[in-house]
Amino acid sequence: MKIGSKVLLCAIILLVGLSSFIFTGFARKGENCNSSVLKEQQQPLSYFNIYRGNTHSHTIFTWTHGAHRVDGMTDLSSPTEFHPDWNVPQGIDWRDYSTISLNPEEYTNRQGLPANHYELAIENGYDFYVVTDHTQEPSLQPVSKNNPVWQVMLRTADEFNKYPDFVALAGFEYSRNTTAKGGRGHINTIISTEYVNADHGQRGPAPPWPEANWSIPQFYNWVKSAKPYQSNGYVVTGFNHPQPDQFNDWDHIDDEIENLISTFEIHTRYNKIRWEAYIRALNKGWKVSPIGVLDNHGINEIIELPPPTIVLAPELTGEAITRALRQRRTYASWNEEGELRYAVNGFIMGSTLDSTDIFNFHIEIKTPATKPDERVRRIRILRNALDGSDDVEVVTEIVSTGNKDKIVWDPVIEDHSAKYFLLQIHHANDLTENGDFNPHGSTISSPVWTGR
Ligand SMILES: [Zn+2]
Ligand SMILES: [Zn+2]
Repeated sequence: MKIGSKVLLCAIILLVGLSSFIFTGFARKGENCNSSVLKEQQQPLSYFNIYRGNTHSHTIFTWTHGAHRVDGMTDLSSPTEFHPDWNVPQGIDWRDYSTISLNPEEYTNRQGLPANHYELAIENGYDFYVVTDHTQEPSLQPVSKNNPVWQVMLRTADEFNKYPDFVALAGFEYSRNTTAKGGRGHINTIISTEYVNADHGQRGPAPPWPEANWSIPQFYNWVKSAKPYQSNGYVVTGFNHPQPDQFNDWDHIDDEIENLISTFEIHTRYNKIRWEAYIRALNKGWKVSPIGVLDNHGINEIIELPPPTIVLAPELTGEAITRALRQRRTYASWNEEGELRYAVNGFIMGSTLDSTDIFNFHIEIKTPATKPDERVRRIRILRNALDGSDDVEVVTEIVSTGNKDKIVWDPVIEDHSAKYFLLQIHHANDLTENGDFNPHGSTISSPVWTGR
């Protein structure tokens, strides 16, 4: 009987243990309850390749504005003319979106179809490229997963995924341009089967169908149930070009949506950094990793600018790239080359750690000899401000004056209250004439969250 009770007790403990493992994934706050994710996050740094692409772009399906027009349309009833330099495909009428040609060969400059964007991305060395047209555009009405333009976007991505060494993805930009009902802001969602529209009549009367006019809290609820297209990969959602108080000053956060919104557009076309907004979002509890994007409304940027979105993934597939974006394995850099990888307590950047007070960093940064301006000059580890103010503070830093291709740094930090750590890297091109560093550096890593 004694042995029997022990067995029963062990079985109960095992069951409780198993259920807490299944439902909480080692009680890792806000993380995916998935042991394969935890296993991947603990792979050595060498397991992760660096891929470069663009997760935000607009084609001719963003009909009302872009490189094909002289000016953007403010009202659908007052269309603006096509740009005089645009080689207009035969039969397209600037007043009528239903005349858009679906033959990519007819587009030769300024703007084109998703196929034209993907072709140029391949030619210009992009590893991945995402088309994310605005869903309030007339071409995407009425909102339906069977909408012919949405179907063209999905099918074109399928076609271009047949090319080797390239990943094509379709998504959309949800654009809420009013502060009513939960705030203002734009959000990208990638590879969802369906899409929704935030239109509130911004270019004419609000459309009557119920899928339009979705507020930000409604949209967050929709994200919680969004399914990946053809069940392949992960639906990725991120904040676009945020201002410091957008998204109702970062309101409407809960554990589920915090886990699902994973990226933050810290630069657009390598323009200035959205530092204040980024730190405010992090300090309000959002777990978002920094990305750069083009947000191009035409094709020229693909030719003129290096791919801005940088992802750490084991292989170049749609599944691996979307998993990396969902797991926050990104960093943003204003430099063209160089590679940043780091882990804390054996977990790769973007992870959330088990509660601990000791943090063993392992940081590796490579820069090529061909880019002397991109050599590392300072690495800083930052955390949220100790006094609770809306800021960060420097935990520790090293300065580097050498000319090494690879810098490895393994600091150990004891800390009892940080919510996250992230890396800020200053390169040679961040030094001003009087020898100071520019304030923000030019490489910003994804954080590691402490689980507090
Ligand atoms: Zn936008
Ligand atoms: Zn956009």
